[in-house]
Amino acid sequence: MPQKFYSTKSPGQFVGLKEAVLRSLPADNGLYMPEHIEPLSADFWGNWKELSLSEIGFEVSKVIFRDSVPEEELEKIVHQSANFPAPLVTLKKQEHVLELFHGPTLAFKDFGARFMARLMGWLTREDEGLLTVLVATSGDTGGAVASAFHNVPGTRVIILYPKGKVSELQEKQLTTLGGNITSLEVDGTFDDCQRLVKSTFLQREMAEDLNLTSANSINISRLVPQSFYYFEAAKQLPDAVKPTFVIPSGNFGNLTAGLLAEKLGLEVERFVAATNRNDVVPAYLREGEYRPRSSVATISNAMDVGAPSNFARMENIFGNEWESMKARVAGFSYDDQSTRETIRRIKAETGYTLEPHGAIGWLAAEEWRKLKPEAQTVVLETAHPAKFLDVMEEELGKGAVAIPERLGCLADLEKVTIPMMPDVEVFAEWLRSIG
Ligand SMILES: *Cc1c(COP(=O)(O)O)cnc(C)c1O
Repeated sequence: MPQKFYSTKSPGQFVGLKEAVLRSLPADNGLYMPEHIEPLSADFWGNWKELSLSEIGFEVSKVIFRDSVPEEELEKIVHQSANFPAPLVTLKKQEHVLELFHGPTLAFKDFGARFMARLMGWLTREDEGLLTVLVATSGDTGGAVASAFHNVPGTRVIILYPKGKVSELQEKQLTTLGGNITSLEVDGTFDDCQRLVKSTFLQREMAEDLNLTSANSINISRLVPQSFYYFEAAKQLPDAVKPTFVIPSGNFGNLTAGLLAEKLGLEVERFVAATNRNDVVPAYLREGEYRPRSSVATISNAMDVGAPSNFARMENIFGNEWESMKARVAGFSYDDQSTRETIRRIKAETGYTLEPHGAIGWLAAEEWRKLKPEAQTVVLETAHPAKFLDVMEEELGKGAVAIPERLGCLADLEKVTIPMMPDVEVFAEWLRSIG
C-alpha cells in the first residue's frame, strides 16, 4: 500500500504523495503528515552504523514514501541529493557539532531542497505545462531552492525575500542565477513573504492555473531528507551514547525532522530548541500558551520567524499535548549580544568558528548541560560562517573566515531582482501578469 498523507487539521482525510508534495499546503491550511511512520526494521538496526548517509536516507525514504515511488527511482533521488557529507566534530568530550553546510549553497537546506527538486521532477515527468515553485525565504531557503531547481526542465522558481534583511552573499545566491529563477525583493519582513505565499495557495483557481507548488519547509518532501542526518550524527558517536540534539530553529522544520527520526526508531535523549529573540516556541514550552507574533530582526536572520510554520506538525506529533512536547523538547532563546560573545569565546576556547545560528545552539547546549551534566550534546551547525561574513568579521576580524569558492565567485555577479509590495493583491496581480 502506498503511503497516504493527512492534514494536521483533518486527520481522517488522505491524499497521495503527488498531491501532498505538489499542493504542499492542504486546503484547510493544515500541514501534511504521513499516515504511517513505522520504526526501521531489525535488519536496518543490525548494521546501520556501516551504512553511508545516502544509504541510510534510502532506508528512511522507503518507510516514509512506501510504494509511492519505485525503489530504483527513490534510490536515485536520494543518492543524487544527499551526496555531500555531514561530519560530526567533537570540540570537547561531550560537546559535538554536526556540520550541515557542505552542500552547494552552504546550508543544511541543501539536503531538503535537492531531494524535493528531484522528487518533484519525477512526480511531474509526464505532466504538461510549467511547474511554478513559490518560496518565501529569510535567507538560506531561497538559495538552496534556487540552486536545486536551476535548469530543471519543466520548472520555474519564484523567490520572495525581505528587503534589506538577508546578507549580501545570501542575496547574490537568490538573484544571480537567472534562467528559470526569478526573485522578488519584498518591502517587508519574512512573515510578509510567507503571508504572500500562503495567500496565493489559498486562491485555488490561481494556484491551479499557475500549477503552483511550494518549496518552503511546509513541504513534506523537504522535511523527510532532513531526518537523514540525525542518524548520520548518531552513527558517528561512540556506541551507547544517546545524543541530545540542539537545534537552532526558526520555522522548526529541522526540529520536526528530528522528531521524525525518533519515530523511525532513532534513540534520542532529548531535543533542545534554540532560538534568537523570536522565542515563540521556548515561551510555549515554558508557559503552555502558543502566541505567534511578528518577527524581529536579528543577526541570526534565518531564524527570524514569529509564527513558525512547522509548529502544527510538532503539536500533531505530540497529540496536541503541551506536557508531552515539554517532556521531549526543551527550549532556550538568546539575544544578539550573547550570540556575538559566544562566537568570540568559542573561537578563543576551542579554535572552532561558529556562525550566529550555531552560536545560539551552542549557548543552549551549555545551558542544557548545566541542568544535565551527563548529556552529550550535538549542536546542528546549520550554515557556513562565510554566509554571515559581516558579523563574523565584526567579531573575529577581517579575513577570519575563508570564503569557499562556490560562494566567493558570486560577489562580482550582478543582482537581478523585482521590487514587490507586501500586499496580497499586488502580488496576485503580478503573478497573473506572468501567466
Ligand atoms: C533555515 C535555517 C534555520 C532554521 O531552520 P528551521 O528548520 O526553519 O527551524 C537555522 N539556521 C540556518 C542557517 C537556516 O538557514
